[in-house]
Amino acid sequence: MNLARQIKQYLPQELLGLVQNISAQADKLGQRVYLVGGVVRDLLLGYPNFDLDLVIEGDAVKLAMAIAETSQAKLVTHSRFGTATLSYDNFTLDMATARGETYAKPGALPTVTPGTISNDLSRRDFSINAMSISLASNNYGELLDPYQSKSDLEHRLIRILHSESFRDDATRILRAIRYEQRLGFKLETQTAKLLKRDIPMLDTISGDRIRHELELILREKYPEFAFKRLDELGVLQRINPSLKGDGWIAEKFEKARQLNKPSQLLPLYLCLFIYPLSESENEQFIHHLNIPTKLSRALRDTRYLKSQFSFLDKSSLKPSEIYYFLYEYDPLAIQANAIATKSPTIHSHLQLFLAKLRYVKTFLNGEDLKGLGISVGPKLGEILRALYRAKLDGEVNTKADEEKLALSLKL
Ligand code: ATP
Ligand code: MG
Repeated sequence: MNLARQIKQYLPQELLGLVQNISAQADKLGQRVYLVGGVVRDLLLGYPNFDLDLVIEGDAVKLAMAIAETSQAKLVTHSRFGTATLSYDNFTLDMATARGETYAKPGALPTVTPGTISNDLSRRDFSINAMSISLASNNYGELLDPYQSKSDLEHRLIRILHSESFRDDATRILRAIRYEQRLGFKLETQTAKLLKRDIPMLDTISGDRIRHELELILREKYPEFAFKRLDELGVLQRINPSLKGDGWIAEKFEKARQLNKPSQLLPLYLCLFIYPLSESENEQFIHHLNIPTKLSRALRDTRYLKSQFSFLDKSSLKPSEIYYFLYEYDPLAIQANAIATKSPTIHSHLQLFLAKLRYVKTFLNGEDLKGLGISVGPKLGEILRALYRAKLDGEVNTKADEEKLALSLKL
Protein backbone atom coordinates (compact mmCIF):
# COMPACT_ATOMS: atom_id res chain seq x y z
CA MET A 1 0.00 0.00 0.00
CA ASN A 2 1.32 3.46 -0.86
CA LEU A 3 0.39 6.50 1.23
CA ALA A 4 2.22 9.26 -0.68
CA ARG A 5 -1.09 10.91 -1.53
CA GLN A 6 -2.32 10.80 2.10
CA ILE A 7 0.98 12.27 3.34
CA LYS A 8 0.52 15.16 0.95
CA GLN A 9 -3.07 15.77 2.06
CA TYR A 10 -2.45 15.30 5.75
CA LEU A 11 0.74 17.18 6.50
CA PRO A 12 0.75 20.97 6.65
CA GLN A 13 2.72 22.58 3.80
CA GLU A 14 5.67 23.47 5.99
CA LEU A 15 6.03 19.94 7.33
CA LEU A 16 5.60 18.38 3.92
CA GLY A 17 8.48 20.49 2.61
CA LEU A 18 10.60 19.29 5.49
CA VAL A 19 9.71 15.63 4.90
CA GLN A 20 10.73 16.01 1.26
CA ASN A 21 13.98 17.63 2.31
CA ILE A 22 14.66 14.73 4.72
CA SER A 23 13.96 12.26 1.96
CA ALA A 24 16.44 13.99 -0.38
CA GLN A 25 19.17 14.33 2.26
CA ALA A 26 18.82 10.65 3.25
CA ASP A 27 19.14 9.59 -0.40
CA LYS A 28 22.29 11.70 -0.68
CA LEU A 29 23.82 10.04 2.39
CA GLY A 30 22.75 6.58 1.18
CA GLN A 31 20.46 6.08 4.22
CA ARG A 32 16.90 4.82 4.37
CA VAL A 33 14.46 6.86 6.41
CA TYR A 34 10.96 5.94 7.68
CA LEU A 35 8.10 7.64 9.43
CA VAL A 36 7.12 5.47 12.42
CA GLY A 37 4.86 5.15 15.44
CA GLY A 38 2.06 7.53 16.36
CA VAL A 39 2.16 9.63 13.22
CA VAL A 40 1.62 6.61 10.94
CA ARG A 41 -1.24 5.38 13.16
CA ASP A 42 -2.87 8.81 13.21
CA LEU A 43 -2.37 9.37 9.50
CA LEU A 44 -4.28 6.17 8.79
CA LEU A 45 -6.97 7.20 11.26
CA GLY A 46 -7.10 10.73 9.86
CA TYR A 47 -6.18 12.36 13.22
CA PRO A 48 -3.77 15.30 13.41
CA ASN A 49 -0.36 14.48 14.90
CA PHE A 50 2.52 16.56 13.68
CA ASP A 51 5.23 15.43 16.07
CA LEU A 52 7.07 13.22 13.66
CA ASP A 53 9.07 10.16 14.72
CA LEU A 54 11.59 8.98 12.15
CA VAL A 55 13.73 5.86 12.11
CA ILE A 56 16.89 5.74 10.03
CA GLU A 57 18.66 2.65 8.75
CA GLY A 58 22.10 4.18 9.01
CA ASP A 59 23.02 7.06 11.30
CA ALA A 60 20.28 9.32 12.64
CA VAL A 61 22.71 11.86 14.12
CA LYS A 62 24.51 12.37 10.81
CA LEU A 63 21.24 12.79 8.92
CA ALA A 64 19.85 15.17 11.57
CA MET A 65 22.96 17.34 11.25
CA ALA A 66 22.56 17.50 7.48
CA ILE A 67 18.89 18.51 7.85
CA ALA A 68 19.66 21.10 10.52
CA GLU A 69 22.11 22.73 8.10
CA THR A 70 19.43 23.13 5.44
CA SER A 71 16.54 24.28 7.68
CA GLN A 72 15.88 26.59 10.62
CA ALA A 73 15.93 24.07 13.44
CA LYS A 74 17.30 23.69 16.94
CA LEU A 75 19.27 20.46 17.03
CA VAL A 76 19.89 18.27 20.08
CA THR A 77 21.82 15.03 19.53
CA HIS A 78 22.50 12.01 21.73
CA SER A 79 25.32 10.19 19.94
CA ARG A 80 25.46 7.41 22.52
CA PHE A 81 21.85 6.46 21.76
CA GLY A 82 22.02 7.33 18.05
CA THR A 83 19.13 9.79 18.40
CA ALA A 84 18.51 13.44 17.59
CA THR A 85 15.69 15.93 18.01
CA LEU A 86 15.05 18.82 15.66
CA SER A 87 12.76 21.51 17.07
CA TYR A 88 10.89 23.95 14.85
CA ASP A 89 8.43 26.63 15.91
CA ASN A 90 5.31 24.49 15.50
CA PHE A 91 6.52 20.90 15.71
CA THR A 92 9.36 18.58 16.62
CA LEU A 93 11.07 15.83 14.74
CA ASP A 94 12.51 12.87 16.65
CA MET A 95 15.06 10.85 14.74
CA ALA A 96 16.45 7.50 15.88
CA THR A 97 18.86 5.03 14.37
CA ALA A 98 17.02 1.75 13.73
CA ARG A 99 17.63 -0.69 16.56
CA GLY A 100 16.75 -4.03 18.04
CA GLU A 101 16.28 -4.65 21.76
CA THR A 102 16.62 -7.48 24.22
CA TYR A 103 15.58 -7.46 27.88
CA ALA A 104 18.03 -8.83 30.44
CA LYS A 105 15.19 -9.14 32.97
CA PRO A 106 11.61 -7.95 33.28
CA GLY A 107 11.31 -4.22 33.81
CA ALA A 108 14.99 -3.58 33.05
CA LEU A 109 15.83 -1.01 30.40
CA PRO A 110 16.51 -2.88 27.17
CA THR A 111 19.90 -3.72 25.70
CA VAL A 112 20.01 -1.94 22.36
CA THR A 113 21.76 -3.06 19.16
CA PRO A 114 21.82 -1.44 15.67
CA GLY A 115 19.25 -2.97 13.37
CA THR A 116 16.83 -2.74 10.48
CA ILE A 117 13.44 -1.07 10.35
CA SER A 118 11.89 -4.52 10.87
CA ASN A 119 13.89 -5.01 14.09
CA ASP A 120 12.85 -1.56 15.16
CA LEU A 121 9.15 -2.23 14.63
CA SER A 122 9.40 -5.59 16.42
CA ARG A 123 10.36 -3.95 19.75
CA ARG A 124 7.31 -1.67 19.82
CA ASP A 125 4.43 -1.75 22.25
CA PHE A 126 1.32 -2.42 20.13
CA SER A 127 0.56 -3.31 16.57
CA ILE A 128 -1.09 0.07 15.94
CA ASN A 129 2.27 1.72 16.76
CA ALA A 130 4.34 -0.78 14.77
CA MET A 131 3.99 0.43 11.19
CA SER A 132 6.32 2.58 9.13
CA ILE A 133 6.15 4.58 5.93
CA SER A 134 9.24 4.78 3.74
CA LEU A 135 10.49 8.22 2.76
CA ALA A 136 13.25 6.91 0.48
CA SER A 137 12.81 8.15 -3.10
CA ASN A 138 12.62 4.68 -4.70
CA ASN A 139 9.59 3.63 -2.62
CA TYR A 140 8.37 6.92 -1.12
CA GLY A 141 5.08 6.45 0.75
CA GLU A 142 5.20 2.66 0.97
CA LEU A 143 3.57 1.26 4.12
CA LEU A 144 5.45 -1.44 6.00
CA ASP A 145 2.95 -3.41 8.08
CA PRO A 146 4.47 -6.65 9.37
CA TYR A 147 1.87 -7.17 12.16
CA GLN A 148 -1.46 -6.70 10.35
CA SER A 149 -1.73 -3.38 12.13
CA LYS A 150 -3.97 -1.89 9.50
CA SER A 151 -6.49 -4.60 10.14
CA ASP A 152 -6.25 -3.94 13.90
CA LEU A 153 -6.90 -0.27 13.24
CA GLU A 154 -9.94 -1.18 11.20
CA HIS A 155 -11.21 -3.48 13.95
CA ARG A 156 -10.26 -0.90 16.58
CA LEU A 157 -8.02 -3.25 18.55
CA ILE A 158 -5.01 -2.78 20.83
CA ARG A 159 -2.78 -5.82 20.40
CA ILE A 160 0.68 -6.58 21.80
CA LEU A 161 3.22 -8.11 19.43
CA HIS A 162 4.15 -11.17 21.52
CA SER A 163 2.99 -12.87 24.71
CA GLU A 164 5.91 -11.67 26.86
CA SER A 165 5.42 -8.00 25.98
CA PHE A 166 3.90 -6.86 29.29
CA ARG A 167 6.49 -8.90 31.21
CA ASP A 168 9.34 -7.26 29.32
CA ASP A 169 7.93 -3.83 30.03
CA ALA A 170 4.92 -3.46 32.31
CA THR A 171 4.60 0.28 31.52
CA ARG A 172 2.83 -1.07 28.44
CA ILE A 173 -0.09 -1.95 30.73
CA LEU A 174 -0.64 1.76 31.35
CA ARG A 175 0.06 2.61 27.71
CA ALA A 176 -2.44 0.02 26.43
CA ILE A 177 -5.26 1.55 28.47
CA ARG A 178 -4.24 5.08 27.53
CA TYR A 179 -4.57 4.29 23.81
CA GLU A 180 -7.66 2.16 24.31
CA GLN A 181 -9.49 5.01 26.02
CA ARG A 182 -8.13 7.81 23.84
CA LEU A 183 -9.03 6.08 20.61
CA GLY A 184 -12.17 4.30 21.81
CA PHE A 185 -10.58 0.94 20.91
CA LYS A 186 -10.77 -2.46 22.70
CA LEU A 187 -8.01 -4.67 24.00
CA GLU A 188 -7.77 -7.70 21.72
CA THR A 189 -8.86 -10.83 23.69
CA GLN A 190 -5.44 -12.41 24.21
CA THR A 191 -3.88 -9.02 24.99
CA ALA A 192 -6.54 -8.41 27.65
CA LYS A 193 -5.86 -11.81 29.21
CA LEU A 194 -2.10 -11.25 29.31
CA LEU A 195 -2.51 -7.74 30.63
CA LYS A 196 -4.48 -9.07 33.60
CA ARG A 197 -1.98 -11.87 34.14
CA ASP A 198 0.93 -9.46 34.17
CA ILE A 199 -0.40 -6.70 36.44
CA PRO A 200 1.94 -7.86 39.26
CA MET A 201 4.86 -7.09 36.90
CA LEU A 202 4.23 -3.41 37.58
CA ASP A 203 6.28 -3.99 40.72
CA THR A 204 9.35 -4.42 38.48
CA ILE A 205 9.04 -0.90 37.05
CA SER A 206 10.90 2.06 38.52
CA GLY A 207 8.83 4.83 40.08
CA ASP A 208 10.17 7.32 37.53
CA ARG A 209 8.83 5.29 34.64
CA ILE A 210 5.43 4.82 36.29
CA ARG A 211 5.27 8.54 36.98
CA HIS A 212 6.09 9.28 33.34
CA GLU A 213 3.25 7.04 32.12
CA LEU A 214 0.80 8.54 34.65
CA GLU A 215 1.78 11.99 33.35
CA LEU A 216 1.06 10.87 29.80
CA ILE A 217 -2.40 9.76 30.97
CA LEU A 218 -2.92 13.09 32.74
CA ARG A 219 -2.14 14.90 29.47
CA GLU A 220 -5.00 13.13 27.73
CA LYS A 221 -8.18 15.06 27.13
CA TYR A 222 -10.15 12.90 29.61
CA PRO A 223 -7.68 11.16 31.93
CA GLU A 224 -10.55 9.85 34.06
CA PHE A 225 -11.55 7.39 31.32
CA ALA A 226 -8.20 5.62 31.57
CA PHE A 227 -8.25 5.79 35.37
CA LYS A 228 -11.70 4.21 35.51
CA ARG A 229 -10.54 1.30 33.42
CA LEU A 230 -7.25 0.95 35.33
CA ASP A 231 -9.25 0.95 38.58
CA GLU A 232 -11.59 -1.79 37.34
CA LEU A 233 -8.62 -3.89 36.24
CA GLY A 234 -6.88 -3.48 39.63
CA VAL A 235 -3.92 -1.64 38.09
CA LEU A 236 -4.27 1.54 40.16
CA GLN A 237 -4.41 -0.48 43.36
CA ARG A 238 -1.15 -2.17 42.39
CA ILE A 239 0.49 1.26 42.31
CA ASN A 240 -1.11 2.41 45.57
CA PRO A 241 -3.93 0.62 47.44
CA SER A 242 -6.28 3.61 47.82
CA LEU A 243 -6.01 5.17 44.35
CA LYS A 244 -9.41 5.40 42.67
CA GLY A 245 -10.72 5.98 39.18
CA ASP A 246 -14.36 6.26 40.15
CA GLY A 247 -17.16 8.74 39.45
CA TRP A 248 -15.85 11.07 42.13
CA ILE A 249 -12.56 11.57 40.26
CA ALA A 250 -14.41 12.05 36.97
CA GLU A 251 -16.55 14.78 38.47
CA LYS A 252 -13.60 16.57 40.11
CA PHE A 253 -11.44 16.39 36.98
CA GLU A 254 -14.28 17.91 34.98
CA LYS A 255 -14.50 20.75 37.49
CA ALA A 256 -10.72 21.23 37.32
CA ARG A 257 -10.98 21.60 33.53
CA GLN A 258 -13.70 24.21 33.84
CA LEU A 259 -11.49 26.30 36.14
CA ASN A 260 -8.06 25.96 34.53
CA LYS A 261 -6.18 26.25 31.28
CA PRO A 262 -5.11 22.84 29.90
CA SER A 263 -1.43 23.72 30.44
CA GLN A 264 -2.02 24.11 34.20
CA LEU A 265 -4.08 20.99 34.79
CA LEU A 266 -1.51 18.28 35.39
CA PRO A 267 -0.42 19.18 38.96
CA LEU A 268 -3.99 19.93 39.99
CA TYR A 269 -5.19 16.57 38.64
CA LEU A 270 -2.47 14.89 40.66
CA CYS A 271 -3.56 16.65 43.88
CA LEU A 272 -7.10 15.38 43.25
CA PHE A 273 -5.84 11.91 42.35
CA ILE A 274 -4.13 11.46 45.75
CA TYR A 275 -7.12 12.89 47.64
CA PRO A 276 -8.45 9.49 48.83
CA LEU A 277 -4.99 8.43 50.12
CA SER A 278 -4.13 8.37 53.81
CA GLU A 279 -1.16 10.41 54.92
CA SER A 280 1.15 7.39 54.94
CA GLU A 281 -0.13 6.19 51.54
CA ASN A 282 0.51 9.66 50.18
CA GLU A 283 4.08 9.53 51.49
CA GLN A 284 4.54 6.13 49.85
CA PHE A 285 3.18 7.50 46.58
CA ILE A 286 5.53 10.50 46.68
CA HIS A 287 8.59 8.36 47.43
CA HIS A 288 7.78 5.49 45.11
CA LEU A 289 7.08 7.77 42.15
CA ASN A 290 9.95 10.09 42.99
CA ILE A 291 7.70 13.14 42.71
CA PRO A 292 9.71 16.37 42.30
CA THR A 293 10.04 18.55 45.42
CA LYS A 294 7.71 21.37 44.45
CA LEU A 295 4.91 19.05 43.40
CA SER A 296 5.35 16.82 46.44
CA ARG A 297 4.82 19.89 48.63
CA ALA A 298 1.49 20.51 46.88
CA LEU A 299 0.48 16.87 47.39
CA ARG A 300 1.39 16.93 51.10
CA ASP A 301 -0.39 20.24 51.63
CA THR A 302 -3.49 18.89 49.89
CA ARG A 303 -3.69 15.99 52.31
CA TYR A 304 -2.84 18.09 55.35
CA LEU A 305 -5.34 20.84 54.59
CA LYS A 306 -8.05 18.20 54.21
CA SER A 307 -7.29 17.02 57.75
CA GLN A 308 -7.67 20.59 59.10
CA PHE A 309 -11.14 21.24 57.71
CA SER A 310 -12.93 21.54 61.07
CA PHE A 311 -11.49 25.05 61.52
CA LEU A 312 -12.73 26.16 58.08
CA ASP A 313 -16.22 24.75 58.47
CA LYS A 314 -17.40 27.63 60.68
CA SER A 315 -19.51 30.23 58.90
CA SER A 316 -18.52 32.99 61.35
CA LEU A 317 -14.87 33.26 60.28
CA LYS A 318 -13.46 36.68 59.51
CA PRO A 319 -11.51 37.09 56.26
CA SER A 320 -8.31 37.72 58.25
CA GLU A 321 -8.78 34.44 60.13
CA ILE A 322 -9.17 32.62 56.83
CA TYR A 323 -6.12 34.37 55.43
CA TYR A 324 -3.79 33.57 58.32
CA PHE A 325 -5.01 30.00 58.39
CA LEU A 326 -4.28 29.43 54.70
CA TYR A 327 -1.47 31.70 53.59
CA GLU A 328 1.33 29.17 54.03
CA TYR A 329 -0.35 26.42 52.00
CA ASP A 330 0.56 25.78 48.39
CA PRO A 331 -2.18 27.46 46.29
CA LEU A 332 -2.60 24.24 44.29
CA ALA A 333 -3.51 22.41 47.49
CA ILE A 334 -6.08 25.08 48.28
CA GLN A 335 -7.55 24.82 44.82
CA ALA A 336 -7.69 21.03 44.97
CA ASN A 337 -9.50 21.20 48.31
CA ALA A 338 -11.91 23.84 47.03
CA ILE A 339 -12.83 21.44 44.23
CA ALA A 340 -12.91 18.36 46.45
CA THR A 341 -14.77 19.52 49.54
CA LYS A 342 -18.41 18.62 50.09
CA SER A 343 -18.97 21.57 52.45
CA PRO A 344 -20.27 24.78 50.83
CA THR A 345 -18.85 26.79 53.76
CA ILE A 346 -15.34 25.42 53.34
CA HIS A 347 -15.61 25.85 49.59
CA SER A 348 -16.54 29.50 49.87
CA HIS A 349 -13.75 30.21 52.38
CA LEU A 350 -11.15 28.58 50.13
CA GLN A 351 -12.52 30.41 47.11
CA LEU A 352 -12.42 33.72 48.94
CA PHE A 353 -8.76 33.18 49.72
CA LEU A 354 -7.90 32.16 46.15
CA ALA A 355 -9.86 34.87 44.38
CA LYS A 356 -9.27 37.77 46.74
CA LEU A 357 -7.52 37.52 50.10
CA ARG A 358 -4.17 36.29 48.80
CA TYR A 359 -3.87 39.42 46.62
CA VAL A 360 -4.78 41.98 49.29
CA LYS A 361 -2.16 44.72 49.87
CA THR A 362 -2.15 47.73 52.17
CA PHE A 363 -1.44 51.17 50.74
CA LEU A 364 1.10 51.88 53.47
CA ASN A 365 4.40 50.10 53.94
CA GLY A 366 7.11 50.41 56.64
CA GLU A 367 8.65 53.47 54.99
CA ASP A 368 5.27 55.24 54.93
CA LEU A 369 4.82 54.50 58.64
CA LYS A 370 8.23 56.00 59.39
CA GLY A 371 7.07 59.07 57.47
CA LEU A 372 4.15 59.27 59.89
CA GLY A 373 6.61 59.47 62.78
CA ILE A 374 6.47 55.82 63.86
CA SER A 375 9.96 54.74 64.77
CA VAL A 376 11.55 51.47 63.65
CA GLY A 377 10.99 48.70 66.18
CA PRO A 378 8.48 46.05 67.28
CA LYS A 379 5.70 48.62 67.37
CA LEU A 380 6.07 49.31 63.66
CA GLY A 381 5.74 45.61 62.84
CA GLU A 382 2.68 45.37 65.07
CA ILE A 383 1.04 48.33 63.34
CA LEU A 384 1.74 46.87 59.89
CA ARG A 385 0.08 43.60 60.89
CA ALA A 386 -2.89 45.41 62.39
CA LEU A 387 -3.27 47.43 59.18
CA TYR A 388 -3.16 44.28 57.11
CA ARG A 389 -5.75 42.57 59.27
CA ALA A 390 -8.04 45.61 59.11
CA LYS A 391 -7.64 45.74 55.33
CA LEU A 392 -8.51 42.03 54.96
CA ASP A 393 -11.59 42.51 57.13
CA GLY A 394 -12.73 45.58 55.22
CA GLU A 395 -12.33 47.88 58.25
CA VAL A 396 -10.10 50.22 56.28
CA ASN A 397 -10.44 50.91 52.56
CA THR A 398 -8.61 54.08 51.56
CA LYS A 399 -5.08 55.31 52.18
CA ALA A 400 -6.53 57.97 54.51
CA ASP A 401 -8.28 55.22 56.53
CA GLU A 402 -4.98 53.43 56.93
CA GLU A 403 -3.13 56.57 58.01
CA LYS A 404 -5.81 57.30 60.58
CA LEU A 405 -5.63 53.78 61.99
CA ALA A 406 -1.81 53.80 62.04
CA LEU A 407 -1.70 57.09 63.94
CA SER A 408 -4.29 55.90 66.44
CA LEU A 409 -2.20 52.79 67.11
CA LYS A 410 1.02 54.79 67.46
CA LEU A 411 0.09 56.05 70.89
P1 ATP B 1 1.28 9.65 21.28
O1 ATP B 1 2.45 10.58 21.38
O2 ATP B 1 0.20 10.06 20.36
O3 ATP B 1 0.81 9.15 22.60
P2 ATP B 1 3.17 7.98 20.17
O4 ATP B 1 2.96 6.70 19.42
O5 ATP B 1 3.90 9.08 19.53
O6 ATP B 1 1.75 8.37 20.57
P3 ATP B 1 5.14 7.99 22.29
O7 ATP B 1 4.95 7.73 23.75
O8 ATP B 1 5.57 9.32 21.84
O9 ATP B 1 3.79 7.59 21.58
O10 ATP B 1 6.13 6.90 21.77
C1 ATP B 1 6.58 6.87 20.42
C2 ATP B 1 6.63 5.44 19.90
O11 ATP B 1 7.59 4.71 20.65
C3 ATP B 1 5.32 4.66 20.07
O12 ATP B 1 4.53 4.78 18.93
C4 ATP B 1 5.78 3.26 20.29
O13 ATP B 1 5.90 2.60 19.07
C5 ATP B 1 7.14 3.41 20.91
N1 ATP B 1 7.12 3.18 22.35
C6 ATP B 1 6.99 4.10 23.32
N2 ATP B 1 7.02 3.53 24.53
C7 ATP B 1 7.18 2.21 24.33
C8 ATP B 1 7.30 1.06 25.18
N3 ATP B 1 7.24 1.16 26.50
N4 ATP B 1 7.48 -0.14 24.60
C9 ATP B 1 7.54 -0.25 23.26
N5 ATP B 1 7.43 0.77 22.41
C10 ATP B 1 7.26 1.98 22.93
MG1 MG C 1 4.81 10.83 20.33
